[in-house]
Amino acid sequence: MTNTGIQSSQQVTDSQYDIIRLKGVGPRIAMRLEKLAIRTVQDVLFHLPLRYEDRTRVVPLGSLRPGAQAVIEADIDLAEIAFGRKRMLLCRISDNTGSLLLRFFHFSAAQKNQMQRGIRIRCYGEIRPGKKGLEMIHPEYTILNDEVVTDVEQTLTPIYPTTEGVHQVKLRDLTDQALALLDGGDVTLQEWLPASLTKKMNWPSLRDAIITLHRPLPDMELDSLIEGKHPLQQRLAFEELLAHHLSLRQLRFRARHHHAPSLPAAGFYATQFRGSLPFTLTTAQQRVIDQIEEDLNQHRPMMRLLQGDVGSGKTVVAACAMLAAVDAGYQAVLMAPTEILAEQHLQTFQGWMEQLDIQVAWLSGKIKGKARAAVLEQIASGAAQLVIGTHALFQEQVDFHNLALVVVDEQHRFGVHQRLSLREKGRQGEQRPHQLIMTATPIPRTLTMTAYADLDCSIIDELPPGRTPVQTVVLPETRRAEVVERVHTACAGGSQIYWVCTLIDESEVLQCQAAAETAEQLQQALPGLRVGLVHGRLKPAEKEQVMARFKAAELDLLVATTVIEVGVDVPNASLMVIENAERLGLSQLHQLRGRVGRGSRQSHCVLMYRAPLSRTARSRLAIMRETNDGFVIAQRDLEIRGPGEVLGTRQTGDMNLRMADLLRDQALLPQVQQLSEQLIQQQPQAVNAIIRRWLASGTRYGDV
Ligand code: ADP
Ligand code: MG
Repeated sequence: MTNTGIQSSQQVTDSQYDIIRLKGVGPRIAMRLEKLAIRTVQDVLFHLPLRYEDRTRVVPLGSLRPGAQAVIEADIDLAEIAFGRKRMLLCRISDNTGSLLLRFFHFSAAQKNQMQRGIRIRCYGEIRPGKKGLEMIHPEYTILNDEVVTDVEQTLTPIYPTTEGVHQVKLRDLTDQALALLDGGDVTLQEWLPASLTKKMNWPSLRDAIITLHRPLPDMELDSLIEGKHPLQQRLAFEELLAHHLSLRQLRFRARHHHAPSLPAAGFYATQFRGSLPFTLTTAQQRVIDQIEEDLNQHRPMMRLLQGDVGSGKTVVAACAMLAAVDAGYQAVLMAPTEILAEQHLQTFQGWMEQLDIQVAWLSGKIKGKARAAVLEQIASGAAQLVIGTHALFQEQVDFHNLALVVVDEQHRFGVHQRLSLREKGRQGEQRPHQLIMTATPIPRTLTMTAYADLDCSIIDELPPGRTPVQTVVLPETRRAEVVERVHTACAGGSQIYWVCTLIDESEVLQCQAAAETAEQLQQALPGLRVGLVHGRLKPAEKEQVMARFKAAELDLLVATTVIEVGVDVPNASLMVIENAERLGLSQLHQLRGRVGRGSRQSHCVLMYRAPLSRTARSRLAIMRETNDGFVIAQRDLEIRGPGEVLGTRQTGDMNLRMADLLRDQALLPQVQQLSEQLIQQQPQAVNAIIRRWLASGTRYGDV
């Protein structure tokens, strides 16, 4: 091969790479199209419009509405250059129903000269309200002349996603050619959806859907098309979701062929541990532990997502799983997202493991030098049976002696890629460790079915007995004095209080400053109280000391930034005040609120906001007042903010949906799931074809 990459003649004649069949596509354009993941004529057909413009009808000036895009045709009454703050060409036009002003900021002398009184002009652009009636700013336009009749467009104008060097006109030309090939039978699109399904849903054929979406006729309902709810789009959205689902299922299927150490249940340590607990497990905990034990007993890696609301008792479930590893002579690791949380786990585990004489190693980024070398040595030699640390554990070179289980706590912002790389990092020879991912931010079922289709899912849907639901009130910042009084009363009644300061979008330094100031003010207002302060800029030892004092009830009031969001467990705390609550996400508020209501005392949460509240903000805070159910909150959050926000952008970025919208199309998901099982079992050849069609190179999620 003399040339590189796609310029090589070998590759361009490859049928996998037939885009150069189209006129006007040489190596240079082909290379650019690669950026849009277009390599074949089929890819062109599946490069669907982002939106449409209606240039099929000329709208009379009298019936234009501001905000709309429209084609207009009218006569020029007056064209003049205005010298205001900016030089511009103003052109007043009219038809027999009304008039309109065109504004051009960039124009040539030739353009100015074209625009003579009496000339007929056709424009396309957005209608805006101006000081003296409606305007169009910089419309696309054609001067009409009597000799040549220029028709308006016959179909709605598709607007495609573009890339550098391949613009709308080019993409329209390529789709024209591809559609012609499809029409002539030179290219065929294999229909993979069963006829029974398309019939039941009243969906068109794939071929019709593709043709119409590229060149929709003007009499189509533009509204449903714009909302993405047209049967044509639903047909394709379904297949796209199917492709994603299949790809994740495939991933899971491949992982099944990896080897993992089998860890039998009910070994010595696990049994001892269960017997030593001061409480009985809830039914939900027991059920989940059974599911996990069954997985761990297999010779293939467990990949399980454990969801459980704040305080539902996930830690003890993790401990049971980890002890199964120890019982079988292996190591297990538990990772948490923050130092505070990891430290808390360390304390919990040390308490539990001491009596069992199990060695727990602690690794955080802050442990340096000789101490670090010693810990790494313990982990490498296998002297450390359990390892606890932050997520940083896996970002560096830590060698395990024989790792059998990785537990990741409180991590819902983990994309597919991170999950994969995690599994790879714990690999030893042909063996992969089992994986348990725990999250307290409930993920609505619709999302677990898509974004997490590579994982099995367990849910703890029950809180330990004796908890009373937190009562929540929403108050404006102007009633701060009352809130301070409430803190006073709560403290006098023997309970402890969290006061959370939030400053969103500000630097960490400012956040910490704000928290420090609040702590000072509160101390002045409440001189009898013992006030502590934690924020992200304290040294870990300082943080730990403050937290330990709060836990030991040596502090009454803990002023904190959102660093206390996850996991911290102080059952005697029964009042939480959150400032600027309107600026936090619902799931985050739910997490924070979960810090109280852990004891038997009635707990309260005060959400303070700064007026005025937007309608959405008001309804979001109302949800917090109405329910303590994390799943309800997550579902409402999903409806209000969309999946990107709820899952974290990474997650949905991974999915990169073109036609489908997880929220809008969630009703399709059960059927997607069903058909995907069916295809995997009965039509394996369809699986790759569908994935290939929708997921660029067909290996979006990779095969690690
Ligand atoms: P989370 O699911 O939020 O991580 P934790 O594991 O921190 O919850 O548990 C919260 C508290 O509930 C801890 O103090 C834990 O010891 C306690 N707990 C866990 N399971 C039970 C149970 N079955 N009965 C009573 N208390 C429990
Ligand atoms: Mg926890």
